[in-house]
Amino acid sequence: MTRIAYVDGAYLPFDEAGVHIEDRGYQFADGVYEVFALIDGHMLDVDAHLKRLDLSLEKISLVSPVSRPALLVILNETIRANNIKNGLVYMQITRGRAARNHAYPKTLHPVLSVTVRPMNETYRDHVAQSGIKVISLDDQRWKRCDIKSISLLPNVMAKQVAVEAGAQEAWMIDEAGLVTEGSSTTAWIVDAAGKLRTRPLANDILDGITRQMLFKLVDELKLELDETPFTIDEAYASKEAFSTASSLIVMPVVDIDGHKIGDGTPGPVTTKLLQSYKISNS
Ligand code: PLP
Repeated sequence: MTRIAYVDGAYLPFDEAGVHIEDRGYQFADGVYEVFALIDGHMLDVDAHLKRLDLSLEKISLVSPVSRPALLVILNETIRANNIKNGLVYMQITRGRAARNHAYPKTLHPVLSVTVRPMNETYRDHVAQSGIKVISLDDQRWKRCDIKSISLLPNVMAKQVAVEAGAQEAWMIDEAGLVTEGSSTTAWIVDAAGKLRTRPLANDILDGITRQMLFKLVDELKLELDETPFTIDEAYASKEAFSTASSLIVMPVVDIDGHKIGDGTPGPVTTKLLQSYKISNS
């Protein structure tokens, strides 16, 4: 079946889908995006993603070209046209086309595009059984990481360093020596005292939707949550570590910079959170 992409009002065969050479998304990374997990034909945590999208748009003074109901129709129609039941839905809104200048006229027509791709959940679950390796490196990003901007070059570079080092994710460290987040994930540990730790929300990290959803499970699972940032040394000494993202849900981290975490296998809190998240969405 031909893949279909939605671009600015049209559903197009994938290989023919594109934006103009002077789209500001292409030239300036002037745009924002969202990624939804698609399970059994339904996008997960839709309201939370759309709320974060609205906030990202507002923070860069961009107005969606379509209303929220229309956006939902477009997302679902793109899913249907691709006949994909389990996968990832990617959408982005860029400021649109203009002669290349840093400043932009207010009259531009923002461009929405949507793609859907299948995801091998069995493979993801298989990886989660043994966990992933993480490396740490300096956080070289800008000061508005709360915006889900399509400008991801430092994240791309960090992930590439990780992959070339035989790891699957890079956790980034701020100037104070504290872990901010992963290149495409939220970073968590169960510290030596047994507390679940993740960095508090501010401009230096993304408000992860999976993070929001795990917060709701914490009481139910009687876990002690502490939003105090942690150092990489605390991460090395942690009982458990994991990364979260819509594409991964909860991914156990069993090795950070060559330090084995816990006994080197996914720990009980991580496993419980993953199971509970899955159950709450089944
Ligand atoms: N942090 C960064 C930098 C990300 O890119 C992502 C996901 O893309 C996350 C955290 C996790 O966010 P979410 O749980 O909404 O997928």
